[in-house]
Amino acid sequence: MSHQICLLPGDGIGPEVTRASTKIIDATGVKIDWIELDAGGDCAQRTGELLPQSTLDAIEKYRIALKGPIATPVGKGFRSINVSLRKHFGLYAAVRPVYSLKGVQTRYEDVDLVVIRENTEGLYSGIEHEVVPGVVESLKVATEKACTRIAEFAFDYAVKNGRKKVTAFHKANILKMSDGLFVDCARKVHEKSYQGKVEFDDLIIDNACMQMVKDPTQFDVLLLENLYGDVVSDLCAGLVGGLGVVSGANFGPDCAIFEAVHGSAPDIAGKGVANPLACLMSGVSMLEYIGEKESATKITKAFLKVLESGEPAHVTRDIGGTANTEQFVSAILSNL
Ligand code: ATP
Repeated sequence: MSHQICLLPGDGIGPEVTRASTKIIDATGVKIDWIELDAGGDCAQRTGELLPQSTLDAIEKYRIALKGPIATPVGKGFRSINVSLRKHFGLYAAVRPVYSLKGVQTRYEDVDLVVIRENTEGLYSGIEHEVVPGVVESLKVATEKACTRIAEFAFDYAVKNGRKKVTAFHKANILKMSDGLFVDCARKVHEKSYQGKVEFDDLIIDNACMQMVKDPTQFDVLLLENLYGDVVSDLCAGLVGGLGVVSGANFGPDCAIFEAVHGSAPDIAGKGVANPLACLMSGVSMLEYIGEKESATKITKAFLKVLESGEPAHVTRDIGGTANTEQFVSAILSNL
């Protein structure tokens, strides 16, 4: 029986990296009917709608999607479609594994950590207004319910994946109430259900970022509220080779959307040089989620072989190669 999975190509490099990924996924022989859906800036230009109801209905029906990045205008314009989708489907947990890849030159070896980001509140609530001209207020929302839920998710993830420690990053010395609540909830969840199973500690985020750059190997599972999670995800990507090599997944109670950490990369869109790996790795997580472990393993082995070969003509420029997207895809396909 075929799996029915929604595919949102998105904006910028989105169509290029999703096309590359589905080509490789299909080549493993796994049976997937891709249900292609529209959303984002390009969609708005064509149809006048940023997030058509038909797209929401399809995700509602199939509950699983592989998604390319959707551009969000800076400063003014429409609100993020990525954030809207996460909120609409209650995708409260973003999971972003970050690990060193043999063959990708970086300052560090042996980085192996997982960023777990709360996806539904914090400053991303988007509640801001101009009090008087020249004065704006943005509201950071933290609820005990959401803080507890993401802490439970992080500890549960750690236990199920053989991880040793969860570290919460926060700024509770300044944001005593909101970040205070976040770290308190994490502590309570740990004390109640995870003591002896997994360690827990917390760090003030500025110190944490310095520690991260000094020695990222000291970290295991990171638990962060929304904005810190967004920023630290990109920092972590920089430790292992950049945004082209970090995958992501957003989980809710009965829905999952898999998407790379990177944005639509307008600077390289349409040039055929985007690294498809982050999207492909998100696709691998999706295959594992739907129980297609054999295909997932085949793809992982194939791209690792390409990276480990160290052949510049087979990998894209962002990770030190000379290949375009298509050449990278061909190299992976030839190793499947
Ligand atoms: P957003 O706000 O949507 O997250 P961003 O501002 O973080 O976007 P990105 O679109 O992620 O920006 O791009 C940041 C930089 O990383 C750009 O220089 C872009 O070209 C590069 N980049 C991002 N993704 C890739 C990729 N898959 N392959 C190669 N380079 C990439």
